[in-house]
This record gives sequence, C-alpha cells and structure tokens, in this order.
Amino acid sequence: MIGGGIAGVSIAFELAAHRRVTLLEAESSLAIHSTGRSAATYLPGHGGPQVRVLINASRPRFARLAEELGAPALLCPRPVLWAAFDDHGEQKLRADLAEQAHEPDAAVELSPEEAIARCPVLRRGMLRVAAVTETACDLDAMALHQAYVRGLRQRGGCVRVATPVTGLAPVSGGWRVHCGSDGVLHTADVVDAAGAWADLIAGLAGVPALGLRPLRRTIVVARVPDPGRLRTPSGGALPMVVEARERWYFKAEGNNLLLSPGDETTVEPGDVRPDPLDVALALERVEAVTGLGLRSVQSSWAGLRSFVADRAPVVGAWPQHPGFHFFAGQGGSGIESAPALAALGAAIVIGGSPPPDIPLNPATLAPNRVHDFLGDV
Ligand SMILES: Cc1cc2nc3c(=O)[nH]c(=O)nc-3n(C[C@H](O)[C@H](O)[C@H](O)COP(=O)(O)OP(=O)(O)OC[C@H]3O[C@@H](n4cnc5c(N)ncnc54)[C@H](O)[C@@H]3O)c2cc1C
Repeated sequence: MIGGGIAGVSIAFELAAHRRVTLLEAESSLAIHSTGRSAATYLPGHGGPQVRVLINASRPRFARLAEELGAPALLCPRPVLWAAFDDHGEQKLRADLAEQAHEPDAAVELSPEEAIARCPVLRRGMLRVAAVTETACDLDAMALHQAYVRGLRQRGGCVRVATPVTGLAPVSGGWRVHCGSDGVLHTADVVDAAGAWADLIAGLAGVPALGLRPLRRTIVVARVPDPGRLRTPSGGALPMVVEARERWYFKAEGNNLLLSPGDETTVEPGDVRPDPLDVALALERVEAVTGLGLRSVQSSWAGLRSFVADRAPVVGAWPQHPGFHFFAGQGGSGIESAPALAALGAAIVIGGSPPPDIPLNPATLAPNRVHDFLGDV
C-alpha cells in the first residue's frame, strides 16, 4: 500500500482481512497532506453520481466502524443549506434538486424566508433559491483515520512512515518495491493510494498515468466581531452554507467562521500553502452575503483535491498491468466516501464480489474508462 492518507489506511484495513499488508508513507507522520486539511464534512448529494452512492453507502458503515474500532462517534449532525444568489447558481441548484429528487437523503427546497430563518446571517433580499440537506454532518476525519490505523495493526498490518517509494519494477509473480533509503520489498500486488502523487507512482512502475489533476483548495478561519450572530435567535446552531456552484462555503467553528472560496487551482503535487488572494477572496465572497464584518484571519491552510476528468474515483488496474491497482481520484469526497469506497476497493483488488450494500458497477470506477477522456485532461 503506497500512501498513508485516508485512502491508504482505509483500503489497507479492508485488505488486511484477506492479505498481509505493508503500508508505506513518505512523510514522517500519516495524514499530513489532503486528509489532514479537509473541511471535515459528510454531505449527501455532494459530487457526481458514483460519489453520491458511495457517500450514502458510507453512512451506516461510519457507525459500524466506530463500534468495531473503538472510535468516538464519527458523525455529528449539522444540516447543510445550499444557497443560490444569481442565475447560474439558481440553474445549478434547480438541476441538482431535479437530478437527485429520488436519491436517499436528497436536499429539500426551502423558500428564501425559510432559509434565512434557519441561517439569519444571510442578507435579506439577495437569496434566490435555497435547499437543505438535513442529514449532513460534521465528520471527525482524524478519529476515522486513527481508527483505521488501529484496525489495520490489529489485523496484522504493518505501517512504515518516512519510507518513500522510489522505484517499482515488475518481477515474476509481482513487484519489487524500492523504498526508504535502501529498502526492497517483494509483493504480489501494489495499491497506489498516493493521493495527488498517484500518477507519479504509476510512472515509477512504468504504468500509464490517469491524467490526475491536483487542484488546490483554501480554507480560512476568520474571527467574527459579534460571535452571537453565529446562533439563531432561539440559540440554535447555524447550518453550514454552501453556494450552489461551490463558489464559497462557510460554517461556524466555535466563535469563528470556517470558510472557503471554493478555489480549484491546478498545481503540481506538493505541500501547498494558501495564496493570499484566495484568502482575501474567501473573506470577500462570504462577507458579501453575510455582512458579518469578516476582516481578521485566525488561520488558513490549503490542500489538494485530485480528480480525473469525470471526477469519479479510480479503483483497479489497467488490464495490461495486473497487480498495480489504483485507488485514487477521490477529489473533494475522500473522507465522506471512505468506508464504502475502501470496502468496494478491497473487493476489486482481491477479485471478490462488490459488497451488496454498495450499488455501484466496478467498471464505472475502472482505469479503463479514462481512455475515453484522457485527451480532455
Ligand atoms: C480544503 C479541502 C477540503 C476538503 N473537504 C472535504 C470534506 O469536507 N469531506 C471530504 O470527504 N473530503 C474533503 N476533502 C477531500 C479529502 O481531503 C481527500 O479526498 C482525501 O483526503 C484524499 O485522501 P488521500 O489519502 O487520497 O490523499 P492524502 O491524504 O494526500 O494522502 C496521500 C499520501 O501519499 C503519500 N505519498 C505520496 N508519494 C509517496 C511515495 N512516493 N511513497 C509513499 N507515500 C507517498 C503522501 O505523503 C500522502 O500522505 C477536502 C480536501 C481539501 C484540500
């Protein structure tokens, strides 16, 4: 297993029920890249069709994992309000509502008055269309990650940090893996769960790339001059608010506000930092619709959301390169979809049947499909 973010540890845990697993992580600690930088939200209705199926199938699995692995509750309810303020946003939100009307946990349209009653910080007179996903939650991403690591070790898996994979060579019966300063491992199967670096790992193995694009996204925690405004008049918590085209989102974090400008800047894989312009844009966009007086930044960070062109994850091997399995392209949903995706991914790697509670055809996640759009990436 290459990569110790949520992708690597979750599928490693599932595979360890069937195989001996060694997880190799380049950094000296796990989960310091995308996984440690998320907005920690579980949001039904987020993403394309395959991702939505995975998010929905993950919900009962979060509870089972917490129980099995002795983790605290991983999901804590916080509804999400989708909000459209212009023509484009209105079209997008109406299209999403129509497309997802019959899906589990679908968002329900609210009148602008109802939406503002749920979230009084939104300025009156600007909101055009709104909807609410009542079943959205905050997600304890670090507790989930740690639970998977614990479970992996309980199943006999081995985790090696500060052990970058530097070379991969096909040999009879599998792969020779060069890692760390001078380590060599032999394995029948390699799983490439290296997040934004997944195509670089494929390159080391002489396996065709997926055309994965790492996109930088920024998060800002801003001070709110009057934190009392972060509760409803009756003292209730505000929902998270997401602009219909994800041009920004915000949610209260204690007396502060966590916000993002919804940026998607193509960058090279790496330890990305926020661009001050994106920080300013986040404040400007959320200030425009709330008037909360957002000026002062408590902290900010950026991370990578990596996608192939159709924005569905990639799970499995190219037919010409059996034994080299991708587990990549989780984009902006790698944590909220992790329990189901890991269970499905493990079934694909060992050649088993997909779990019955995950109604997805593995072919829709296979690398082969990226042939159709590689030219567009
Ligand atoms: C700002 C932001 C907000 C987000 N919000 C959410 C959210 O609310 N909900 C949600 O579900 N998702 C969210 N996401 C997406 C989520 O964080 C990602 O989908 C997920 O973390 C990807 O996990 P990963 O394990 O693939 O990648 P990573 O966590 O980046 O892990 C990949 C690992 O591979 C390692 N690696 C790379 N090269 C090598 C090598 N040669 N040898 C060994 N190891 C190597 C890296 O060091 C890294 O630790 C967000 C992402 C961002 C950036």
